[in-house]
Amino acid sequence: MNSRDLAVAYGTDACRLVLNLLQAMDIGSEVGSKTKVLLKPNLVMAREASSGITTHAEVAEGVIRYLLDAGVQKITIAESSWTGGDTRRAYRVCGYTDLADKYGKFGVDLLDLKVDSVHSLEVQGVRFKVFRSVLATDYFVNLPVLKGHGGTKLTCALKNLKGCIPDSEKRRYHAEGLHKPIAQLNTLIHQDLVIVDGLCGDPSSETGGNPLAMDRVIMGKDPVLVDSYVAELMGYRPEMIEHIAMAAQLGIGSTDTSHARIREFGEPRFRKIPQPDTSRLQRLRGYIADRQACSACYGSTLYALQRLEESRRLNTLRDKICVGQGYRGVRLEGSGIGACTRGLSNYVDGCPPTARNIIEFLESSVSGRFDA
Ligand code: SF4
Repeated sequence: MNSRDLAVAYGTDACRLVLNLLQAMDIGSEVGSKTKVLLKPNLVMAREASSGITTHAEVAEGVIRYLLDAGVQKITIAESSWTGGDTRRAYRVCGYTDLADKYGKFGVDLLDLKVDSVHSLEVQGVRFKVFRSVLATDYFVNLPVLKGHGGTKLTCALKNLKGCIPDSEKRRYHAEGLHKPIAQLNTLIHQDLVIVDGLCGDPSSETGGNPLAMDRVIMGKDPVLVDSYVAELMGYRPEMIEHIAMAAQLGIGSTDTSHARIREFGEPRFRKIPQPDTSRLQRLRGYIADRQACSACYGSTLYALQRLEESRRLNTLRDKICVGQGYRGVRLEGSGIGACTRGLSNYVDGCPPTARNIIEFLESSVSGRFDA
């Protein structure tokens, strides 16, 4: 398989689809018994893959079974969940702890990158911090989920590397608008293989809520080409997604899907991803005054707003909820989420606050208890 190749398998048996693709593209010829392999799923939060948010453990299992058969003796699954998130809990909830138990005796282990040490590197005059274990691996297999994203339109191979950096860096990326630092980060971490979990991602949001059964796994070696292909499936031209265009300019890969060699295995129920109905999401987002919010604060606020709507109290919310790093040092009358909004008259503390605390805070807000 070379950088111009893309392979797509359609079906619902994730483990089998992955095994078939790896065999068909002869990936075993790229690894040996001494190769240290790192698998990077998307476990941004502790929610099951059926939510459309996280990578199915069965996708990782397909890779593990294939690589073990190919003689690989050291496979590490590595992730750092979103800012303030508990990666260990995400491993448990998403089935990866069981996976490590099942294959541990064959050299498979789990690494919570949040406790890993950090290496500092420079790109275009800017210092970037990356977890050492990611840089020390011989063969990097990226396992993103095919998802939409409120800020970047989509999240797939390029953006999934955000789980390879410490929380302080995640905050910085959000403060800088995500696209440019994501593209630059991709110059530091080489992806040997990308296997996209397109079984049931959420095309409308990175934090889920509207999973769509898309019944496919997509494999490639060029993350820019993979993301460009995914962008087109979702109805975007690759250059409409800034971090894809920037990554191409930085020489990471090609956006030219017209010259890709695409092999398909099986028949899709549909090829293009149907446009999701985002009207509810847009309505809820309308209640958030976002200034460079991290995913953790923004996603949990959105979730809390959904809960308020379900209990028919959303329309009693009087003002927009302020979220994000742009509120640091700002003094305002209003309600805010997180330590960044300490200058507001009402806020819930924490960086990020827990989803439960945000829900309780908003419930207090709509019941008028702030005025007491
Ligand atoms: S409180 Fe501010 S810095 Fe912390 S997670 Fe929320 S938006 Fe990011």
